[in-house]
Amino acid sequence: MLDYDVIIIGAGVVGLACAAKLSERHSVLVLERHSSFGQETSSRNSEVIHAGIYYLPGSLKAKLCVAGKEMLYDWCQNHNVNFKRLGKFIVAHDENEIRKLEKLAQNALKNGVNDLEMMNSEHFKEIEANVFAVAALWSPSTGIVDSHGLMKSLYNEAIKNSCDFAFHHEVMQIKKLAEGYAVVANCTGDSFEVSTKFVVNAAGLDADTIAARAGIDIQKSDYSLHYCKGHYFRLNHSKSGLIKHLIYPVPPEKHEGVGIHATIDLDGAVKFGPDIHYLDERKCDYNVTDELIEKFYKSVARYLPSLQLSDLSPDQSGIRPKLQPIGGDFRDFVICDEKDKNLPGFINLIGIESPGLTACLAIGKYVEKLLSPYSPE
Ligand SMILES: Cc1cc2nc3c(=O)[nH]c(=O)nc-3n(C[C@H](O)[C@H](O)[C@H](O)COP(=O)(O)OP(=O)(O)OC[C@H]3O[C@@H](n4cnc5c(N)ncnc54)[C@H](O)[C@@H]3O)c2cc1C
Repeated sequence: MLDYDVIIIGAGVVGLACAAKLSERHSVLVLERHSSFGQETSSRNSEVIHAGIYYLPGSLKAKLCVAGKEMLYDWCQNHNVNFKRLGKFIVAHDENEIRKLEKLAQNALKNGVNDLEMMNSEHFKEIEANVFAVAALWSPSTGIVDSHGLMKSLYNEAIKNSCDFAFHHEVMQIKKLAEGYAVVANCTGDSFEVSTKFVVNAAGLDADTIAARAGIDIQKSDYSLHYCKGHYFRLNHSKSGLIKHLIYPVPPEKHEGVGIHATIDLDGAVKFGPDIHYLDERKCDYNVTDELIEKFYKSVARYLPSLQLSDLSPDQSGIRPKLQPIGGDFRDFVICDEKDKNLPGFINLIGIESPGLTACLAIGKYVEKLLSPYSPE
């Protein structure tokens, strides 16, 4: 007799969304190395509910973002999580960027995002008087969410469904049994072993480490993660009235990120970021130095010309778990049952960078579907 149906490794927003969903029908244990949920990437992001504009049509990123966005708005509404359907503009700086906006609009349409509107500079100026653009693409379904409130609601839902959580438990080993798996965790120096039918690896920045601990050759499978830091700078509070919606530049070609954008949080504070900074070492250094201020100023002043250097001060940072190496091509989320690697019911979630927050509920549903062949009605 196995202890649990499902063990989920990691209590970030994705692990929590999987826990809330899977605990509807299964006994579930979540193992998390920190003292609480959401201590890593899930609390270090832009808190934007993405529309699904940028991603390669047909990719999991595109499909799960578009589906997840609506699921997330509904969830927030029904679970009293703070959110705002604020809308965003992607702004073109010159004629060449207008063509890029048109391409983005076509891409979005292929992803099922059919509410975008191209605006000329006069129309745009009436809405965002302080932002420079020769044209702008309006996305009304983009929004912002209280990520901590969201995680709390997912945690509460899982608890309501009798899901167990073991904090301070770092997973060190996954052993395949004749049926299911034994998961070995380190709990403040003591070893703890528990058995399960299925494993969901939602370990974020260490999802590749967990895959390796289950015996997968991560080099051969192309699962190795690159740490890509994104810094933020905040705008002096007295200037927060400068923008009314989220403002994004045209993204860089390689889609390593969506450009240093302006987000407004639920309290009305404005922050700019994240930039793209691949780390040489896999270390979670969240420091934000003043030295980056010039780079941020130059980038933001392109669309916010009245900005002064002194309006900016260092804010938070986050680290993206990227499958895409520096300068490499688009990589999709890896979300799969590793049955072909002789690990049936071991579900890997690797490279869950943006739009992972937006897509979390759709990811939970997708994982449930991957497990459904094992539990016929
Ligand atoms: C700068 C930045 C901006 C972003 N902006 C947005 C945005 O605006 N909108 C959006 O949709 N997405 C955004 N994202 C992406 C989003 O934040 C992530 O996709 C999402 O938070 C991933 O959640 P997760 O649960 O997979 O990972 P995490 O939040 O990293 O959780 C993984 C958990 O696994 C635990 N863990 C790891 N190893 C072990 C182990 N061995 N044993 C036990 N526990 C372990 C960790 O402690 C952690 O708690 C952004 C990301 C970054 C970095």
